[in-house]
Amino acid sequence: MTTDHLHGFDSLAVHAGQDADPTTGAVIPPVHFSSTYAQDGIGGLRGGYEYGRSGNPTRTALETQLAALEGGRHALSFASGLAAQDALLRAALKPGDEVLIGDDVYGGTYRLLTRVLGPWGIGVRVVDTSDADAVRAALAERAPQLVWVETPSNPLLRIADIAGIAAAAHEVGALVVVDNTFASPALQQPLSLGADVVVHSTTKYLGGHSDVVGGALVIDDDELAEQAKFLQFAAGAVSGPLDAWLTTRGIKTLPLRMRRHSENARAVAGHLNAHGRVARVYYPGLAEHAGHDVAARQMSDFGGIVSVALADAAAARRFAESTRVFTLAESLGGVESLVNYPDAMTHASVRGTALAVPEEVVRLSVGIESAEDLLQDLDDALAGL
Ligand SMILES: *Cc1c(COP(=O)(O)O)cnc(C)c1O
Repeated sequence: MTTDHLHGFDSLAVHAGQDADPTTGAVIPPVHFSSTYAQDGIGGLRGGYEYGRSGNPTRTALETQLAALEGGRHALSFASGLAAQDALLRAALKPGDEVLIGDDVYGGTYRLLTRVLGPWGIGVRVVDTSDADAVRAALAERAPQLVWVETPSNPLLRIADIAGIAAAAHEVGALVVVDNTFASPALQQPLSLGADVVVHSTTKYLGGHSDVVGGALVIDDDELAEQAKFLQFAAGAVSGPLDAWLTTRGIKTLPLRMRRHSENARAVAGHLNAHGRVARVYYPGLAEHAGHDVAARQMSDFGGIVSVALADAAAARRFAESTRVFTLAESLGGVESLVNYPDAMTHASVRGTALAVPEEVVRLSVGIESAEDLLQDLDDALAGL
């Protein structure tokens, strides 16, 4: 079945790549665990599959779904978000090339660039991608080969103007990559705003249930997609069949979940913004948030992550350790609410660098529970400070 007759995002989330099994009629495509495929004579492949690293039908189902949701021609699924980023960077760059990267990107991306790819000759320059003038100045100073944007960023929810950066970067011939993990394609579609590549940690909202680690690339350009696909095959960081299947299952409810995450996060942000023990709330949906206008233009809603600054590091730590509905844990984007203390947890690796997170900041991944339980839990934790 093609999905040419489907235009709505919610329809594509349910149907793209999810055809009924042709042999049994099973409405849900099966998990294909086989590592190898019978050949009808040497080289006689039945469905184009020969070995599990080069291709797997369950992975194809996920890749088809991801490409449809991001509006790209090609999607590739990997064992983790960082495996996807690594494959893309190695496909797109060569020694001597440089990446211009946001100063508030995922710590693991910065670590991958500086500690893994740096020694192989990839340079990194850091800029505040939420500041259009700073980005233009950095591009004018020296043209990088690639500009890496994460918006909203983690954990301060800074907003970068994707269309503006794409136009400026393309003028100097740089490739524009957007890490769309926080928004998900349900809220933001970077390729339609001019980006060349979308990267995802599907571990987060796309999987959506905190039960699978994975990553993906969505690419429009045939040649770059071919190079990334070659690395997926040749270096082999593919997603396993069950991981791919769990992710396709999660994605079917992505639009519903993102609506609820956004609704609950809006309630949490508004509530905390009016709370005397909270020094500052970071949420793009708040009118006073620095990137609010850009976010309102390029996103259909503001997502489920809210960060807060407490009085000081001690208050932030105590708060993060005293919620009961919000579980203290790394990661984000699952149906359950989580609380994270970035300085010592997710962002410990960027302490002391340009990407360090203020030590009074706590990040909330607002789940899909009843809003009143979430607000009560936050109030109780704040009362104990
Ligand atoms: C989690 C995350 C990653 C890394 O993905 P993994 O699946 O953990 O490898 C990259 N970018 C962002 C924004 C993330 O939140």
